[in-house]
Amino acid sequence: MNEHVSIGIDIGGTKIVAGLVTLGGGVLYKQTVPTATEGREQILFQLQQLIKDCVKEAHQQRLPTLKGIGIGTAGQIDFKQGIVRSGTSNIKDWNDIPLKQEMQRLTGFPTWVDNDVNVVALAESHLGAAKGYDNVVFLTLGTGIGGAVIQEGRLLHGEWGGAAELGHMSVDRNGPACNCGYKGCLEAYASGTGIANRMKHMLKNQPERYDGDIENITARDVFQWAAEGKPFAKSILDEAMDALAYGTVNIIHAFNPSLIVLGGGIIDQHNWIISDLENRVRSLGISSLVQSVSFKKAAFGDEAGVVGAAYQSFLYNEFVQKEGAPHET
Ligand SMILES: [Zn+2]
Repeated sequence: MNEHVSIGIDIGGTKIVAGLVTLGGGVLYKQTVPTATEGREQILFQLQQLIKDCVKEAHQQRLPTLKGIGIGTAGQIDFKQGIVRSGTSNIKDWNDIPLKQEMQRLTGFPTWVDNDVNVVALAESHLGAAKGYDNVVFLTLGTGIGGAVIQEGRLLHGEWGGAAELGHMSVDRNGPACNCGYKGCLEAYASGTGIANRMKHMLKNQPERYDGDIENITARDVFQWAAEGKPFAKSILDEAMDALAYGTVNIIHAFNPSLIVLGGGIIDQHNWIISDLENRVRSLGISSLVQSVSFKKAAFGDEAGVVGAAYQSFLYNEFVQKEGAPHET
């Protein structure tokens, strides 16, 4: 076997997945551990162990020399320096970590670190729903809303890597406060958390509509009630779709993509959102921009994070060469 192989690591709030990934997107080995709750030292230790296991497995499978390590993690990531600037609140003490430098020191492998949605966009762009498209926007709808932008074939990073926080684009300056400190963010309306919060807010003002515990309402409840035809739940989903449509038009006006790829837990469970969004977007905004955009569902499932993370080391090896480190062709 001559195919290139790298280690991909997907760091999430509940689990860390590490695997051996080929240039063709094959996952030859994969291991999952629950994310340590003690904080950074424990997580760095977990990463070291996972990498050791991957290296051992690569030897056993007689794989070619590994190209490096790619890591995807939630939060604002300084891509250029490989530093987790501000991580997710789901991982304790996951801020200001020179992850690239630490991993290179501990393992000897060239390492790249990027935001988790950016690496999923790499997987979709090279091997999935966005293959063959040069200008693409990715939106993941789950607990929060993540975004990534591919422009002219490359991930848009901005000055240091913080670009494309599309979930925190305001769609109403008088809207509800978002946990990021801004007002009326797309995430505050159309994420799982946002949908649940909007429903709670409405029912607190109209308690006669609901006799259960309002605090326990989830987005799943809202989708269920809307499917049963309950008008108050339908109006919350309509508001979420409206926010998503205005947000998407803002994105199209800003980036002129030819494709929008939608993924995440909410899309997986509610396919109808894609065609509904497409219909709404077509009637809004600047016609020449919105009419030409296609909409697709993300093609990758659970493995997008680990495959996309590993893909960094295939794509950015030229940077290794510039830095004077060994380079394979
Ligand atoms: Zn926000």
